[in-house]
Amino acid sequence: MSEQLMDTYSPLPVAFERGEGVWLWDTEGKRYLDALSGIAVCNLGHAHPLVAKALCEQAGKLLHTSNIYHISLQERLAGELNRLAGMERAFFCNSGAEANEAAIKLARLYGHGKGIKSPAIIVTGGSFHGRTMATLSATGNRRIQAGFEPLVRGFVRVEYNDLEAMRNVAKNDPEVVAVLVEPVQGEGGIRIPDEGYLAGLRALCDEQGWLLMLDEVQTGMGRTGEMFAFQHSGITPDVTTLAKGLGNGVPIGACLARGEAAKVFRPGSHGTTFGGNPLVCSAALAVVETLQREDLPARAALLGERMLGRLRDSLADNTCLRDIRGMGLMLGIELNRPCGELVEEALRAGLLINVTATSVIRLLPPLILNEQEADQIVDTVVRLIDSFAATDPVAA
Ligand SMILES: *Cc1c(COP(=O)(O)O)cnc(C)c1O
Repeated sequence: MSEQLMDTYSPLPVAFERGEGVWLWDTEGKRYLDALSGIAVCNLGHAHPLVAKALCEQAGKLLHTSNIYHISLQERLAGELNRLAGMERAFFCNSGAEANEAAIKLARLYGHGKGIKSPAIIVTGGSFHGRTMATLSATGNRRIQAGFEPLVRGFVRVEYNDLEAMRNVAKNDPEVVAVLVEPVQGEGGIRIPDEGYLAGLRALCDEQGWLLMLDEVQTGMGRTGEMFAFQHSGITPDVTTLAKGLGNGVPIGACLARGEAAKVFRPGSHGTTFGGNPLVCSAALAVVETLQREDLPARAALLGERMLGRLRDSLADNTCLRDIRGMGLMLGIELNRPCGELVEEALRAGLLINVTATSVIRLLPPLILNEQEADQIVDTVVRLIDSFAATDPVAA
């Protein structure tokens, strides 16, 4: 689009000027229903008054000092997140990749502390953990890694949702110190593991002395119907990472830890200039307070069920449908062939959606959505998939 920018994205032919709740307006004044939330970021919708108020007030007071001084808003935010997640200590950074970098460094330090010379972390196929060198090396997608070799070593890959494969690594690889997985794979196509997978990982990690590290960058902050997706499984990880929805659009990430893992970093182990500054923490505190006060995780669960049910009913006879999956307001509709063109068709119809893993329509609407808006998303998506099926090269 712009010759001034590095060619990392192929942006859609639209630019937005303002937003309110689940709605966005482009520079021509056309209105769109946002079923993507800037990829699971704006969980409270656009221009949320409490986030705006917190940011304005804090901007007039103090933006930044440094982590070489106490930051009381950061300490308050850590307290809230630790309490909600059952964790003990937090490190704040600026993105999901950085939160995972912190977790990876923590796991390596933990391993060295146990006398393991070359500590390894188990990761899964189809995963996404970010675009920095270590996190793209942990990511289970060759397209994201290609051209950036040499990759960072120290990752062992097994299939997602395969506990037996993890157990085999436990038998054969004494250098493993941690497991890093997403409770639901987001970029990988809204892949929901079997019931018992996370509990099985928890048991295996306990048995082996490994850290269970859950990447909740996309699933966290109420998205799946609980504040954190691991809470559906009744387990607590040793380390969990957050970003996307944490700041509702203000860049902030966090790595939370408990037990042994909470004691690994010492002064000088890790750091950041911007991470957890007063501005971003004021926004994240407003997010955390609003999610709780308005019981938005429960709302995500309810509306997610509603959308899932309606999608299943309406698409039952659709010839190009392969599967419909969802947890809270994290929904995936898998079709029988690549369907990237639907993103632009939805845009023309005034709806923002995403396609991931080439053939999975991904819906991640703001959690503040109402029933009528939820139904409108479903109706538009169903209409798009119906006309897509009508052009099916196999059926035709
Ligand atoms: C988006 C995402 C990341 C990377 O976050 P960035 O803020 O883009 O660095 C990491 N893990 C998961 C599960 C994600 O969805």
